Amino acid sequence: MGDLAYVGLIEAALSARKTAYVPYSHYTVGAALLTAEGDIYQGGNIENASYGASNCAERTAFFKAVSDGRRNFRAIAVAGGMEGREPADYAYPCGICRQVMQEFAGSEFKVIVAKSPVDYKVYRLEELLPHGFGGESIR
Ligand code: ZN
Repeated sequence: MGDLAYVGLIEAALSARKTAYVPYSHYTVGAALLTAEGDIYQGGNIENASYGASNCAERTAFFKAVSDGRRNFRAIAVAGGMEGREPADYAYPCGICRQVMQEFAGSEFKVIVAKSPVDYKVYRLEELLPHGFGGESIR
């Protein structure tokens, strides 16, 4: 995956921030998930008055794609910041989202955290979730 592909995915993640439902934190996160077929699924974070029922942008994107029958993914871009403002920092996926990525991500899967299309970092999932628990562990 080249830099140009990252730019498109990051722009989709930034745009997905607008779909976030965040009446409590006012912190909007957008995620854009690239499938092996080249399609992009976007997700925003969805908060709940019962905080534990909230869902992160990354999992929204993954669950939309998986419930659409998709199983193979190349990368996910994530961008977050206070509502109505540009991201002030990189928004790293939480532990639960890293675990969901582990379920579906192959070894080539990339996690991109971005402040803008020109300011981003790229990681392999293994760097963010070393020694992860996956399906291989229970076969
Ligand atoms: Zn998360």
